[in-house]
Amino acid sequence: MIAYFVMECAVDSRIPTYSGGLGILAGDTLQSFADLNVPAVCITLLWKNGFVSQKVSNDGVQLDSIQEWNIEKYMRPTGVKVKIPIGEKDVTITAFKYTVESTNGDNEIDVYFLTPDIPENDPETRHICNRLYIEGGLTRLKQEIILGIGGYEILKALNYKPFLYHINESHSALLIAGLMKDTGDLDKVKSRVVFTTHTPIPAAFDKFEMKDIKNMLGRYCGDDIFKKIYREDLRDKDEFNLSWLAVKNVKNIVAVSRKHKFVSEKIFEGYNIKYVTNGIHHVKWASSHHKMLYAKYIKGWEEDPNLLRQAACIPDTDFIQAHILCKETLIEMVNSETDSSFIPTDFTIALAKRITQYKRNNLILSNPDKLIEIAERKGNIQIVFAGKAHPADDTGIALIKSIHDASRYIASKTKSVKIAFLEDYNIHKAGIILSGVDLWLNNPVRPLEASGTSGMKTSLNGVPNFSVLDGWWLEACMEGINGWAIGPRSAWTDLSYSDDVQDLNDIYGKLEYNILDLYYKNFTDYIKIMKMAVSTIAPHFNTHRMVSEYVTDLYLAGIIKCYS
Ligand SMILES: *Cc1c(COP(=O)(O)O)cnc(C)c1O
Repeated sequence: MIAYFVMECAVDSRIPTYSGGLGILAGDTLQSFADLNVPAVCITLLWKNGFVSQKVSNDGVQLDSIQEWNIEKYMRPTGVKVKIPIGEKDVTITAFKYTVESTNGDNEIDVYFLTPDIPENDPETRHICNRLYIEGGLTRLKQEIILGIGGYEILKALNYKPFLYHINESHSALLIAGLMKDTGDLDKVKSRVVFTTHTPIPAAFDKFEMKDIKNMLGRYCGDDIFKKIYREDLRDKDEFNLSWLAVKNVKNIVAVSRKHKFVSEKIFEGYNIKYVTNGIHHVKWASSHHKMLYAKYIKGWEEDPNLLRQAACIPDTDFIQAHILCKETLIEMVNSETDSSFIPTDFTIALAKRITQYKRNNLILSNPDKLIEIAERKGNIQIVFAGKAHPADDTGIALIKSIHDASRYIASKTKSVKIAFLEDYNIHKAGIILSGVDLWLNNPVRPLEASGTSGMKTSLNGVPNFSVLDGWWLEACMEGINGWAIGPRSAWTDLSYSDDVQDLNDIYGKLEYNILDLYYKNFTDYIKIMKMAVSTIAPHFNTHRMVSEYVTDLYLAGIIKCYS
């Protein structure tokens, strides 16, 4: 049994317990665990008020509110309770159970959503897991104690006997303290925990003061445990960094793409890091029209996504019909939610993801006059933006405002470029946007995209990716064959940052001379690229392949080592 630990988990579009890539990946991974019969259980937190519900005012200001949802409608209380000493208090934690059913209905994976929101606890304690990523400081530490240690203890109380604990991002790394307390043997702990690091931005790692950790956890485990699991070195004297805690106490550290391995080896200097490139669940992310298309031409694609390479042989007329239907759905949504008046036959681009500085969400709007010139020369361009900024991220909020202002400016100058911002980006909207556009734009600062997965989702639906050569796209991109690259292809070990000017020149240059000409003057060749996107990307960049690699290279390797 594998115990998969993660802070956010997106199992259903109606359950708002996620913020972005990490949670979506968890949901897709669990679906593949279920489909592939991998014995696994998931521990996550029950975010009572979700993450952020987003509106944007007429002036382009993000207005956020809580995401209310009805827990009992989707999951069952287990009644199980464990008591964890956190600081002075004994905190009682319970779990709600959700089951992920396999695609064919024959198997299921249990997901436990942990919460301290029960009458045994005082009001402040009940409130700890109110909203994902909103609180910092000691509240964040308490959340992570509930996730790591509460999760570890709940699994014991429920009689699970996981052989391997898989920590996804370091929020749950404190489970190592629980395991150490029970086994007392560092080598045993190391061989039973796998740590996947999901971000290449050390500033985002959770860190606490040593004295806070000792105050909060001192009654759960004493100094002897801390000395064993947090062997101080020159890097950190008073700081307790959860990523370093994980790195120091596992045999296998895993990055989420080949590039991310090299980036992470620089961050965690002296450690050898493996990689398993992320994926997406192909059945979850195929649009209803593509599901029908693949059911007709590629029998068995649901069980075996490898077969999707045969998409290249689907007749053009049927292939493009699925795309047209998806595009209609998107244009209807854009035109009903905004006053942009999109036209179905016009070339449509999307840039939809979390909004924060390094993602450079507004890069394509840096020179609006140039964009207008390109469209007037080569053909109309429509751009859909979507994404939430973290409420405390002022630069992210300013990015939304700048997209808003640039679109006002463009609307005052021309009808050949249209911009729409869709509010409240979520799984449901993502599905419509990513299958309904003609091109998916992705231009974060290199090398900060650990993997990225949205381009995999679009490619599965025949929408080519136009992206910086970073994360997964470095492994998948065949220039002009299955999509296009922004910026140079650097050496794997080259960790230099993107140059905004160079990337912007590539975006405008390729749009003008490669992409728009193909779309408006040579659509048959555009369809070839759309088909190659499916054929060359979907067979590999899926969670069935990803989970198989985890099983053979990480989970089984630990077990074999233990028994030999
Ligand atoms: C896929 C997905 C993400 C992650 O997108 P990236 O481009 O990998 O950052 C975030 N949010 C939603 C709703 C998604 O569907």
